[in-house]
Amino acid sequence: MTDHDLVVTGGTVVTPEVGEFEADVAADGDVISAIAAPGSLAGEGDTEVDATGKYVLPGAIDPHTHHGIYRGVDEDAKSESRGNLVGGVTTIGNFFRRAGSYEEIMDDYFAQTEPNYYHDYFFSLGLLSFEHVEEIPYIVEELGITSFKWYMNYKNAAREKFGVDCDMRDDFGDAFIQKLAAVDVPTTLGYHSENVEITNALAGGNPYLESEPDEDYDYEEMVEEFPGYAETQSMVSGAALAKQHDYDDSFYAVHISSGRTANELKELRKAGYDLWGETTLHYLAATADEAGAEFKVNPPVRYEEDQEVLWDRLADGTIQTIGCDHIANVSENKFGETFTDSLLGFPGSSVMLPFILTEGVGEGRISLPRAVEVTSTNSAKAWNVYPKKGTIQVGSDADLAVVDLDETETVTAEFLQGGSDYSPYEGMELAGWPTHTVVRGQIAYENGDVVGDKGYGTHIDRPI
Ligand SMILES: [Zn+2]
Repeated sequence: MTDHDLVVTGGTVVTPEVGEFEADVAADGDVISAIAAPGSLAGEGDTEVDATGKYVLPGAIDPHTHHGIYRGVDEDAKSESRGNLVGGVTTIGNFFRRAGSYEEIMDDYFAQTEPNYYHDYFFSLGLLSFEHVEEIPYIVEELGITSFKWYMNYKNAAREKFGVDCDMRDDFGDAFIQKLAAVDVPTTLGYHSENVEITNALAGGNPYLESEPDEDYDYEEMVEEFPGYAETQSMVSGAALAKQHDYDDSFYAVHISSGRTANELKELRKAGYDLWGETTLHYLAATADEAGAEFKVNPPVRYEEDQEVLWDRLADGTIQTIGCDHIANVSENKFGETFTDSLLGFPGSSVMLPFILTEGVGEGRISLPRAVEVTSTNSAKAWNVYPKKGTIQVGSDADLAVVDLDETETVTAEFLQGGSDYSPYEGMELAGWPTHTVVRGQIAYENGDVVGDKGYGTHIDRPI
């Protein structure tokens, strides 16, 4: 007779709320049921994990993925959540967008995702028209989806790109924010900062609608077409509009790429704005002078001086979360003949936690509790799934990553076990990979093998 379904013994638990402490952790059913003195729960579990010499972290959360962009959402749900377990990710947010009425189409998409996720997930819906704005109350009340995205980069392109009857100009955004502000449960608005009037002029056309093959086009030219200030100005503009409608605490600037934008976010906070700022993994990992099509993404990766500012703003609390802008694709489709005709986006989720533990904590840029905060706890708070997710507390979901900071692995697509046959992070030597990943009390990944069940993950209906 044992007292608990699962016991993790002998590890060092890390949460931003408490810091680092040695403890045994027990789970019963889906949730954490006890946190006790080290060694005190040994022998008390039906299943036991010996975490001696390792760190026990809340499972990582990637709030910024795009499952279902280049392949069906069913296929992405299956392959990407499976691969995520390798990197200790136990929850993702999926920025999902379709032109049709969400009231009419989402049941079908839930039917595709529910049988396929290995870990929990939530949708954030990209709104593309005034009709979508009108659906916000239905989406919140009937679908349990309380988070949304406003793509400033599709301003003036939505009609042609998505076939909607809307240009996604600022009057659309104004209506969007006002409608959200009127909802009486907590919501979140992910905001893609880009002044397209500036970037389109620099690109000599709309890069979201046309891409003329150009032999000479390369990464650094892309950065010139998407300068940091066009991101910065747009973020300030969006944040100001949100503040006008008393919505600033729910305004979330996604994928901050430039040091200038990160510094401006700090200024906004000083001026009394209360908003969220996210950077994405690749801005910390790659630079334009060395990157090729494998890191092609919008906004583009920039330069070392931007990277240094992003790390500083991550350390001082200005940037609160890290996402990956994860997209699954395969090299046959991803890499074109030239940089121009290579696809935007690449996979990243499963590399996030080891990268931050290695390059952030290992290099002395941020503390271990801060690493947990930016890869899990703050994302749970920003997207309103805390304290169900993002922490290790009695009553929280038992989502855990038991990581070994002493063992290093070389990143390969094969090691990551996701749906892509390449990784832009290939060849990096990273420590901090999980030996065990636990999803709601069940061991889902163990010493290199995925042992969890497809379909065990479920949509996190909010408000929780
Ligand atoms: Zn994105």
